Amino acid sequence: MSTFATPTPVTLIRGDGIGPEICDATVRILEAAGAQIIWEPAIAGLAAVEASKDPLPQATIEAIERTKVALKGPLATPKGEGYRSVNVALRQHFDLYANVRPVKSIVGVPSRYTDVDLVVVRENTEDIYAGIEHYVGPGRMAAESIAVITRQGSERIVRYAFEYARRQHRKKVTLVHKANILKFSNGLFLDVGREVAKQFADIAFDDMIVDATAMLLVKDPTKFDVIVTMNLFGDILSDLTAGLVGGLGVAPGFNLGKDIAIFEAVHGTAPDITGKGLANPTAVTLAAAELCDHIGQSSVAERVRKALYATLAVDSERTRDLGGTADTKTFTDAVIKKIGL
Ligand code: NAD
Repeated sequence: MSTFATPTPVTLIRGDGIGPEICDATVRILEAAGAQIIWEPAIAGLAAVEASKDPLPQATIEAIERTKVALKGPLATPKGEGYRSVNVALRQHFDLYANVRPVKSIVGVPSRYTDVDLVVVRENTEDIYAGIEHYVGPGRMAAESIAVITRQGSERIVRYAFEYARRQHRKKVTLVHKANILKFSNGLFLDVGREVAKQFADIAFDDMIVDATAMLLVKDPTKFDVIVTMNLFGDILSDLTAGLVGGLGVAPGFNLGKDIAIFEAVHGTAPDITGKGLANPTAVTLAAAELCDHIGQSSVAERVRKALYATLAVDSERTRDLGGTADTKTFTDAVIKKIGL
């Protein structure tokens, strides 16, 4: 089916919990769609702790450095004690500064709106998330967290958002901030954003205060196209926008650095349904479709999305989390059957 000559090596981290179930389903769907990919398995998270006592083994880092692109299932992070989030460690190690979340209504998926089509581009390395915190005074009288916003960090994320908008034939970038109150940090982000916007005359630009953005997103999400924002606002708004189209079960995302990209589902390991064959592979399959676009196999991406959307439109073929009755295998088989149609 494929017209691509050379297969692309991609690191595959199947992940923990339902990760292996949904990643295996995704690999089957991609292969049926003719993806020319050589999957190179690597481990991280709980699976890696069990195998090597290290949640992010050096071999996995080297595998991603080599292939430069990875598909990642969800990874378990112990609460409170234990190892730090491997997702955060991967972002920091590879300086994956852009977190991109496309948000699109899907026919058949229960949600508030039917016509949402926007993208949240979140800065992934700075802001209050930099983790600079300390207590002040005796008896933990107060605590301070420092938000770091740099000119360079702001420049590269806003530039990425505009370049993404141009590539995806999108019309507008909205920069979201709170510069009316945080005049220094958010003011710098806004100033830099305005400078970058001047270099993209073909894309409309506006800016909006984060609270007004939250209100308008809930009231009329069609007013938005590409949103670019800082780390904390991006974290909140990307979950809010996922909620506009049916929740995390259908939300793909990816993290990008200068030359490395990691594609993933936004949801976690779903320990309550692990091993039961009930997991919905939609989010990780949509992330894999983005991966196909990224490696130049857009016709595969289109075939995968079309078959996925056609399956989700049929009540009985949806998985239980989306109000259907299908298990993972039945759903995956239905998607694969539609790829040939
Ligand atoms: P979760 O996303 O795993 O589960 C929340 C609810 O959504 C559960 O009821 C679950 O069954 C359901 N759900 C999630 N994905 C589903 C799917 N594909 N199909 C059907 N139902 C699905 O969130 P949680 O329970 O808060 O977290 C569990 C673990 O996952 C934790 O260890 C957490 O640290 C980790 N986590 C990892 C990532 C990641 O790797 N990107 C993201 C979030 C949470």
